[in-house]
Amino acid sequence: MKILVVNCGSSSLKYQLIDMEGERVLAKGLCERIGIDGRLKHSGKAEYTADVGMKNHTDAIRLVLNALLNKEYGVLNSISEVNAVGHRVVHGGEYFSQSVIVTDEVEKAIEACYDLAPLHNPPNLIGVRACEELMPGVPQAAVFDTAFHQTMPPKAYLYAIPYELYEKHKIRKYGFHGTSHKYVAQRAAVMLRRPLESLKIITCHLGNGASVCAVEYGKSVDTSMGLTPLEGLAMGTRSGSLDPAIIAFLVEKERITVKDAENILNKKSGVLGLSGVSSDFRDIEDAKRQGNTRAAIALDLFHYRVAKTAGEYAAAMNGADAVVFTAGLGENSMSSRAAVCAYLGYLGLQVDERKNNTRGKEADFATDDSKTRALVIPTNEELMIARDTAALLA
Ligand code: ADP
Repeated sequence: MKILVVNCGSSSLKYQLIDMEGERVLAKGLCERIGIDGRLKHSGKAEYTADVGMKNHTDAIRLVLNALLNKEYGVLNSISEVNAVGHRVVHGGEYFSQSVIVTDEVEKAIEACYDLAPLHNPPNLIGVRACEELMPGVPQAAVFDTAFHQTMPPKAYLYAIPYELYEKHKIRKYGFHGTSHKYVAQRAAVMLRRPLESLKIITCHLGNGASVCAVEYGKSVDTSMGLTPLEGLAMGTRSGSLDPAIIAFLVEKERITVKDAENILNKKSGVLGLSGVSSDFRDIEDAKRQGNTRAAIALDLFHYRVAKTAGEYAAAMNGADAVVFTAGLGENSMSSRAAVCAYLGYLGLQVDERKNNTRGKEADFATDDSKTRALVIPTNEELMIARDTAALLA
């Protein structure tokens, strides 16, 4: 069975064609600058890169299908070999607690969540519709970033604001990175050789966007991102949680609009805003090594927040069997993993420095006698989307 995984952004489209037998990636690539000019980077039987006009996402999908069919660098003889398409959809609101096959009703529900994810859901749905147009009859599945977190109890997802505001506007915590948290929790259970349903796991997705999740017996019971991805940890450019009064204070003192304030918190804050160096953790680690104090403080603050949130979730679950690190920073930065774990000694978590000297592959880097395990697990959201899509077909 072959599944095409599609992730549509406002001007980009990432894809992977996965053969579910052996879960092999047959081809993958990226369309960029859709609606501007257009550039395709494809890797299949061979690499292929070209500047080609893409007026819209339908054009982009058409080019992707042509690339997949190409004699030199393609991997398919006919589009009918694609059994289904799995789409990443960012926001499923309260409508979806799992992945679904797309129907008219599903499309309406994705549209109903536009207000909650104005930058993501519209292009996600455009991608679905483009595939429907170009691959009629091929089932399309929607896999939501929020779905995994729909198991959170009200005490975790409600904000302490008038309940009517939740009822009226659905203002609540939704959480994101769900596909990633779910994937690494499942892998953790395999690595620990224990059923997922018996484990309390804290998963830390630390990339440009970052979130922590409490996965109790296979279900998300709390997570750090909220109504939007702005809540929780400090991130590359996002402030994460702060005193909500700061927004009004900023508006008054800086004589800016609420939108401007939101822009500062989303785009100019986090480790970028604190360090003044970069939003990229590699640059900040370099700056710290060169003696930049603000870069050092930004990193300290970032690690401290991750560790504090992990502590909250250890409390929420009354313990933790494992702490998992994933995404760009979590998978690659041994110093960040060590810095976070240094706060978690009270959980009986001890790092083996030698085993922590690893990057980009699965590893248990706790000492043999560490009570709580510390794991690195490279995330694979595309594979998770393909698995969900294949399961829906079955
Ligand atoms: P996203 O998908 O949210 O854009 P990623 O999961 O790709 O983010 O993570 C990107 C972040 O990971 C960047 O800030 C980058 O600096 C960091 N990163 C990647 N490799 C390393 C590394 N070797 N050491 C430290 N940070 C790294």
